This record gives sequence, structure tokens and C-alpha cells, in this order.
Amino acid sequence: MTREVVWDRGVSLPSHQLWLDPLVVRSFAFISHAHTDHARRHKEALLTPQTLALIPEGRRPRGWRMLGLGESLRRGPATVTLYSAGHMLGSAQLLFEHGGERVLYTGDIKLRQPGGLPATFVPRADVLIIETTYGRPHFRFGDPDSTVEAIARWCRRALDSNVTPVLLCHALGKTEEVMLALAPYGFRFALEKRCAPCARDYAAAGRSLPEWTELNGEPVVDRVVIAPPAGKDEVRRLGRYRTALVSGWAKDTEFARLFGADATFDLSDHCDFDELIEVVERSGADTVYTVHGYTADFARSLRKKGIHASALEATEQLVLAL
Ligand SMILES: [Zn+2]
Repeated sequence: MTREVVWDRGVSLPSHQLWLDPLVVRSFAFISHAHTDHARRHKEALLTPQTLALIPEGRRPRGWRMLGLGESLRRGPATVTLYSAGHMLGSAQLLFEHGGERVLYTGDIKLRQPGGLPATFVPRADVLIIETTYGRPHFRFGDPDSTVEAIARWCRRALDSNVTPVLLCHALGKTEEVMLALAPYGFRFALEKRCAPCARDYAAAGRSLPEWTELNGEPVVDRVVIAPPAGKDEVRRLGRYRTALVSGWAKDTEFARLFGADATFDLSDHCDFDELIEVVERSGADTVYTVHGYTADFARSLRKKGIHASALEATEQLVLAL
């Protein structure tokens, strides 16, 4: 029964009363990382110390069991182990082992890391539950190191012509990881007000960031500005500026146009299509369930390769239809 995985307003292992990133409050649930779509006020949450530190006060679980990366926990006759997911600070994959069966849940995952860091380790499993945000073949991202270098060049060119470069990045995780990736180039930063608290929390959770200040309506001199993609009121006050969207969605021309950026860079904290395939191969799983994004498309791509795969949410709809 360990292999049984269902969609119950979140991923669930019903025979073990364990929910993985559920969308509603549960008695015991794993929170894979601190992005707000995953954090709920569970009675008891299993998470890494960094994830707990990054979850905003109002979304904190009521109780928690902290587990570091590479650490295991006994839960009845089963063992749970967390591994880095390479998505943001504290993000973890969960490996569930019971009766000789292994079930792996990736949460949001990123395989290739910039800065010469090794690729994210994927443990072996019989059953894999994988996020498929970019589960269509047109999402193929460039090498992260070359993309970081291209972003640095773009910023330098703007600064050299007295124009403020503005990178449009998700406030929590992406902003901080982009700052860290650009740190070797010696830039100083100015963060829009929604990014600033996330940067403070990141530093408090143990990852020190390059020098930054908060945008306050004053002119910005010789700094790279980072702001969330939506709502550019503060950015418009900058005078001469140029914007660049830094996201996997850069590969989706329709989506990229929506943000009206002057440039796009496909640096993502999620796997692209090829990386998702690689995660599946590295896990060695014979059964794969897809969650988030292009679930049905990616499951179809896997079935074409002879892997038993289905979209978890679609499975639930099918059950309801019967
Ligand atoms: Zn995420």
C-alpha cells in the first residue's frame, strides 16, 4: 500500500496519513519550501529549519518537526529522509521508505545549479511524484552560468550608459539567488519594497547576501534594481531605466510580452523539460505522478518513453467522474 498516492487537495500517501504540500490545513504535513502556495497553518509540519525561517509569520504551522537535509526521521514503521531540491534556500525533496518500497516527492525542484555547484542529487525510488511547471518541450533553458554572465553584461552596459538596470524577479528566493549569482561581478543592489523583507529573511536564515539597500523614492546611482514582475510603480519613478524579466517564462513569448520587459533571460529555479526527464531517469522510478503546471503533457511524454506515468490531479477527476 506504500505505493498508493492520491490527490486529496494536495499529494497524499493515504495508508500513512501523510500529506505533501497540501492546500488545506492537515494534522501532519510536509512543507517542501517557503513559497506561499505551499505553506499552510498545519497542526504539525515537517520542514527544514530554513523553510520555517522563511515562511511569513501569518502562514507558519502551529507546530513543527524540523529536519535538516540528509537527515532521517522514523514515522511508525516508515522512514522519511529529506534531500535538497535546489529550488531555493531550505527547499527539500522527501523520500518515504516502507516495507522495501521507496516513494520520492520532489516538491519544486531545480537540477542544474549556477556557479559551478554540483547538480541536485536525486535519490533512487520506485514511485516518483514530480512537479512539472515547465513540462512542455519548448521550455529548454540555456546553461545557467552563461545566462548569469549575459545578465551581468546587460546590467553593466546599462550602468555604463547611466541607465538603471531593473531585473524582474519573484521576491522570495529568486531575488536572493540572482543577487548571489551576480555577486562575483561586484554589483551593488537596490530592492523594491516587496523584495526587501524576503532578502532580510534570507540573510536571517543563514545565507548572507551582497550589499543592498531598499528603494525609497530617491534616485538610484550605480545599483542594479530588483523588483517583482507585477506592479512597477516604484520602478517607473527611476527615470532612465531598462527592465529584464528573469524567469523560465521567458521561453513563453506570450507570457514574456505580458510583463512588457525590454529583455528576457531564461534563468529559472525550476527544471526545464530536459531536466525533468533527467530527474525521472535518475530516480529510476517505474511509476511517475505529475503535479503542477503541464501535468498531462509531461505524463504523456513519459508514457511515450514507456514509463508508467499519469497526472495526479487528473486521476482524481477521473475517480470523481466514475
Ligand atoms: Zn516554489
